[in-house]
Amino acid sequence: MPVRIAYAVARQIANHALAEAPKEACGILAGADERISHAAPLNNAADAPETQFRFDPNEQLEALKALDAAGLEWLGVYHSHPSAPPIPSAEDIQAAVDGSLLQLIVSLDSAKPRLKLWRLDGFAVAPIALGFDTQIDVGIDDHPSRRQQVAMVIAGIASVLLLLAISLLLLPPAPELTTAP
Ligand SMILES: [Zn+2]
Repeated sequence: MPVRIAYAVARQIANHALAEAPKEACGILAGADERISHAAPLNNAADAPETQFRFDPNEQLEALKALDAAGLEWLGVYHSHPSAPPIPSAEDIQAAVDGSLLQLIVSLDSAKPRLKLWRLDGFAVAPIALGFDTQIDVGIDDHPSRRQQVAMVIAGIASVLLLLAISLLLLPPAPELTTAP
């Protein structure tokens, strides 16, 4: 099962990366059940933010507390590669101390931002399939209102269109916000 990311969150991360370039942008990913529904941008406290990233420990702690209070699970970390492909650098692999966390890299090395997900565990570098999620949360209502039903139908159509768009965009050259399986 691929990990899903809300499309709006993918867009938010890409925009963060674009705003910080040529510095690397970074932040944490949260959600539940292998679904990334939230991203919290953090400042890059690295000495050389153009080529590396580091969280400020206090800021990270505050962000994690806020996620916890919101009932969200800490799923992973994201950072950008302003001019390199979305592949973990030697430093990224060294810095990834927790193998259970997902590592999302957004690359700005081509015309459109590219997102790629990894799991880094020791020297094991494994790409993880990532899919966009356009699902609208309708909560636990057993009898969705007419408006919600319409919203679900629209979301369904949007998913199909998005899938079509993604398959078209997956052809070279680099697509907009590809998840490059
Ligand atoms: Zn990196």
